[in-house]
Amino acid sequence: MNCSHVNFESYVSVGRIHEEGKPEVITGYTADIVIRCADCKIPFEFVGVPGGYSPTQPMVNFDATELRAPIKPSSDPVEHVKVLLNREK
Ligand SMILES: [Zn+2]
Repeated sequence: MNCSHVNFESYVSVGRIHEEGKPEVITGYTADIVIRCADCKIPFEFVGVPGGYSPTQPMVNFDATELRAPIKPSSDPVEHVKVLLNREK
C-alpha cells in the first residue's frame, strides 16, 4: 500500500498527577498525545524527544509514538514549574 499520509487522527488523554499516597494533593497535569494516519493507520513518531516520564519537559514512550507533555493551567504562576524542576534534581 502506498499512502501519502494526507489525513490524520489524533488522541489526547489528559490526566492529573498527584503526590504518592495522597490523591487529594495534585502536583501537575499531563497530556498524552498519539497521532496516526487516518487512511493507512500507521502511527507517527515524535522526533527529537527523549524517552521516559518527566513532570517538567515533554517525553515519549519506548517507540516514540506517544508524546507525554506536562501541562499546567495558564493561571498558575511560573513558580509552580520551578518547584517541580527543583524536585527533579
Ligand atoms: Zn497513511
